[in-house]
Amino acid sequence: MVIIMKKDATKDDINRITKRVESLGCTVHISEGNSCYIIGAVGDTSAIDAGIFELEDCVEKVMRVQSPYKRASRMFNPLDTIIEVKGKTIGGNKLAVIAGPCSVESEEQLLTIAKSVKESGATFLRGGAYKPRTSPYSFQGLKEEGLKLLKKASAITGLPVVTEIMAPSQIESALPYVDVIQIGARNMQNFDLLKEVGKTDKPVLLKRGLSATIEELLMSAEYIMAEGNEKVILCERGIRTFETYTRNTLDLSAVLAIKKLSHLPVIVDPSHASGKWWMVEPLSKAAIAVGADGIAVEVHHDPANALSDGEQSIKPEKFAALMDSIKDLSKIVNKEIQV
Ligand code: PEP
Ligand code: MN
Repeated sequence: MVIIMKKDATKDDINRITKRVESLGCTVHISEGNSCYIIGAVGDTSAIDAGIFELEDCVEKVMRVQSPYKRASRMFNPLDTIIEVKGKTIGGNKLAVIAGPCSVESEEQLLTIAKSVKESGATFLRGGAYKPRTSPYSFQGLKEEGLKLLKKASAITGLPVVTEIMAPSQIESALPYVDVIQIGARNMQNFDLLKEVGKTDKPVLLKRGLSATIEELLMSAEYIMAEGNEKVILCERGIRTFETYTRNTLDLSAVLAIKKLSHLPVIVDPSHASGKWWMVEPLSKAAIAVGADGIAVEVHHDPANALSDGEQSIKPEKFAALMDSIKDLSKIVNKEIQV
């Protein structure tokens, strides 16, 4: 249930309504709309009579939230969420460009790629230290060693680090090395993991599951937010369809749907969506054109010898060209590339 306050409602009015909501067994989420405050009641509101709030002079209207997710819904929070990470912004009119290798493989590999993507204008450095692989015999990542290398690359380039955490047991030791925690597609419904990252204060990049609906993605965001961490970034990374030419099918309409349903920033990962390096630039442009708040792309200086996802990784010079080509496009959609 959301209670929309009148424009001239006072702090006392807001406090009074808040206490009333709490006395009915719900928790309160207050957000600022364009010109008024909105009080969201979280919990079982089915037995609450909306009329008791409509009687109040300071209340404009009361609406029931139909969606099963509350904190993630735009109804609860009409203004776009903007997340700040070490001086960089995700959401609003800023474009976030997350770039780097699929896996951290060695110091030389990571530093080469990190320096080149920084040079071309990336905003964040990505790289997997813990790798979710389909085969247990494939490279599983350098783990803690990989996290240390990411920290070093971040110190040299100034780029904040986005890296995946796969299990609750990895969180504590990984936190000092991570600026944005990535939850991978395969873990989108690992509810214990979602709850635990919800207890941290790090922004969370939540990737859409391979066969997850938009509502399921938003419910997973709700798991994180319900624990107190409201800094969630959603990522469309392609979904599984009957098509086999591409690795997945990029669902660009999800960006539009999520923007309508939620206030959270949405980015697109064209690398995992297509599985093909030559599709990364055009799909990045398409993502920006439909209003994505950023892109996450895999970059490797030697894709033929990459330990994972070489076929979908673009070379540093292609990344530089991509950055060049999105400059004018970003202006058209009122987004700014950050330096
Ligand atoms: C990744 O970004 O490294 C990754 C494994 O992606 P996804 O979880 O989307 O498959
Ligand atoms: Mn990958």
